[in-house]
Amino acid sequence: MQTRSVKLASMPLAAALLALGGSSLSAQVGPTPTAWRQHEMARPRPPVVAPAARTAPAPPPADAVVLFDGSDMSGWVGRDGTPAWIAQNGYMEAVPGRGPIQSREEFGDVQLHVEWSAPNPPNGTSQDRGNSGILLMAGRYEVQVLDSYQADTYADGQAGAIYGQYPPLFNATRAPGEWQTYDIYFRRPRFSERGALLEPARMTVVHNGILIQNNEILRGETSYLVSGSYTAQPEQAPLQLQDHAHPVRYRNIWARRLPERPEPAPGYVPRGVPLSTAQLDRLAGSYFRAPNPNATAQQQAAAQQNPTPAYTINRDGNALFVRIGTSAPQRAIPLSENQLWLAHTAATMTFAPIADGSLQLTWDMGGSRSTAIRRASTR
Ligand code: MG
Repeated sequence: MQTRSVKLASMPLAAALLALGGSSLSAQVGPTPTAWRQHEMARPRPPVVAPAARTAPAPPPADAVVLFDGSDMSGWVGRDGTPAWIAQNGYMEAVPGRGPIQSREEFGDVQLHVEWSAPNPPNGTSQDRGNSGILLMAGRYEVQVLDSYQADTYADGQAGAIYGQYPPLFNATRAPGEWQTYDIYFRRPRFSERGALLEPARMTVVHNGILIQNNEILRGETSYLVSGSYTAQPEQAPLQLQDHAHPVRYRNIWARRLPERPEPAPGYVPRGVPLSTAQLDRLAGSYFRAPNPNATAQQQAAAQQNPTPAYTINRDGNALFVRIGTSAPQRAIPLSENQLWLAHTAATMTFAPIADGSLQLTWDMGGSRSTAIRRASTR
């Protein structure tokens, strides 16, 4: 994301003025508006690409929430509390006028698989042709469903558009009556406890196997004739399927909830301890691995002739730097007189004196351990 002031300079005056009048929330944190006016017919249409021949429905993975299996509408509810749409012959169909349906399950970050089919024979033009939509988070973010097969409309409203914001990168629409797939990967927006936007929503969409939305940063809620802004919302909300007065069909709908990446506990990053330069110097030097007993006599002789240290530790002022083999030096933080931590990593080096005056370095990282020796004579 860029700051608003930077981007405004490159915008037409009218768009910049509009942006200035927009929501202060999206102005502070959200991505900047596009230079294209919303629903602009002059905006280039994406190239048409023929998807691969249709394959069998994608079966849901074991951990998926199956939202529609071809017959059971019990996971959905309409405005009046009934499923509202009709399930028959392995699909459900929007019933014009009955309104959208909403999943009983709620989702935040989600992987969503949906199959849909536009009415055949086709009827109508532009937005009045096989229009429906898949809306995430209780209607806030729409992936457009439309019959865009050899049919034109404004780019940010065609099939696979993040409605009113991002046209698809390609028009991968199949003919009306054919089954089409959307695989939607959605990362919900994040808000502070006080409701300020911390991170906008992101969306990736694959249409019939073709990537059409590539991790796009949503500019807010999607809406007709409105440049969206964000309002604080729950972490999970139902999915919606839109009734736009066309009998669009759906089948094989499943979703996988995506976990948060685990964060470490507070205090996880070790704190270093100050050591005197004399204490640091005690660890400095070149450390060599023990000869490899599995090496051939020739290899062992070569290793003895031209030994490369496994670790080289140097002091620069009050800091220690470790070179692993011939790699660039990295800062090492003392955890104690006898232990260093390779900063930003999970690697530690523990030092133990050996009777003959040598110092043994034990390297621990990622579940593996190895040792190297600093001979008194190679210090
Ligand atoms: Mg729609």
